[in-house]
Amino acid sequence: MRRKILWISQAILAIVLIIFAFLSTQVFYKDRVKDAQSDLKTYMSFFEESAYSWDSAGAKAFSEKLDFLRVTFLDSEGNVVGDSVKEGLGNHAGREEVISALRTGEGYAVRKSNSLGEDMIYYCRKTVLDGGSTRLIRLSMSVESVWRMFAGSLPTLGIFLLIDFFICLLFTYLETEYIISPVERLAKEAALNLKLSTKYPELKPIVDILNKRNEEVATRLDELTREKELVEKAQRSKNDFIANITHEMNTPLTSIRGYSELLASGVLDGEQAKAAANTILSQSDRLSKLIARIINYNAIDNDELPAYEVDLSALANETLELLLPDIEKRGLKLEKNIEAGITVMSRHERLSEVMGNLIRNAIRYNKEGGRLAVRVTRTEKGVARFSVLDEGQGIAEENQERVFDRFFTVDKSHGGKGGGFGLGLAIVKKICNKSGWIIGLESKLGEGTIFTVDFI
Ligand code: ADP
Repeated sequence: MRRKILWISQAILAIVLIIFAFLSTQVFYKDRVKDAQSDLKTYMSFFEESAYSWDSAGAKAFSEKLDFLRVTFLDSEGNVVGDSVKEGLGNHAGREEVISALRTGEGYAVRKSNSLGEDMIYYCRKTVLDGGSTRLIRLSMSVESVWRMFAGSLPTLGIFLLIDFFICLLFTYLETEYIISPVERLAKEAALNLKLSTKYPELKPIVDILNKRNEEVATRLDELTREKELVEKAQRSKNDFIANITHEMNTPLTSIRGYSELLASGVLDGEQAKAAANTILSQSDRLSKLIARIINYNAIDNDELPAYEVDLSALANETLELLLPDIEKRGLKLEKNIEAGITVMSRHERLSEVMGNLIRNAIRYNKEGGRLAVRVTRTEKGVARFSVLDEGQGIAEENQERVFDRFFTVDKSHGGKGGGFGLGLAIVKKICNKSGWIIGLESKLGEGTIFTVDFI
């Protein structure tokens, strides 16, 4: 760009200089001609008719007086009767200055001399002799032609052009620094993804476009980073999931295999063999339950079936009904507060899963003979709410978020309180997230826990 500016400035200056030189030559030439004309007129006034003979000798004599200016004498017909430079010139009646002198008394002309071959300026005057005959006196001097003058100025012009080149070089450098530096600054800032600004209105559209692009790129980059994090998180979680499943399956399988081997070896007596067979049965049940839960957990993701109106109150009653034996087995004090006729948009099996898991946990992790309060109500804002309270061991604060993770169990010995897989709350959370419901948890270690689900 710098080089382009330099060459353009250079070309403009060269053209301007040449035009200027030519025009000045023209003006100078015109002045020269005007001066020459008035000089010739002055010289003519020195002519004394009686002092010179009307022939070449007279012309030469007058020429000598005029510092060897060319002098020509002509008769009234335009015939040259004497010339200070050349003999035998013949008739010059057709020459511009002669025609004009014969007609008006005097005449000028600027032309190339036919006899001398150079640019001449002529001044011709008519004079009437005493005897009544007419004579013409013509004075002429050479002038350099415009082109010769112009050509003469070319070496000087060349020097000017050379000087101009170096001056231009300096100015172009300063000028480009001045003009281009904001653009260069913008380019640098744009490369660093900085927010661009400019005081030049011409650059404003580019700055706006670049800023917009930068913002878009930054947003896209953020999105991509977030997407990448999500993908990595999903990948990690998938790996954990598989590791957990394998681990959870391994425990009952090892037990089944061990007892089967014992049975097969025939070392167990009748009672022992029965116990071994029962363990194998219960562990197979556990394995089936685990597989069923995993299938169920994954199925929620692909749950695209339409929701319909479900009677939440009725479903809560039904779920409790089914769990009554377990409640009684643990001697819990049930407090049921279920407002009739509260409905939500969902699907029967998903809703019963949510309530079932939460109530089962409240039974399982409750203290013996503790309170179990199940409520279906509406909040002040009219939102349907299901809540279940227990007076069990509670959940430590640091675990309150993690209990919703897959396979998370506070009691790591899976045989613990009923041997859960740590999938129940993960299923509840997944269904809630998918349906847009809000799940809440309040718990105090050693005092109890309340789970709530707001069906917004
Ligand atoms: P699990 O099948 O082990 O019950 P959940 O996902 O239902 O799996 O629960 C995860 C863990 O959260 C449980 O292992 C338990 O430690 C804790 N938990 C769940 N509900 C309660 C509750 N009502 N009181 C105390 N702890 C609970």
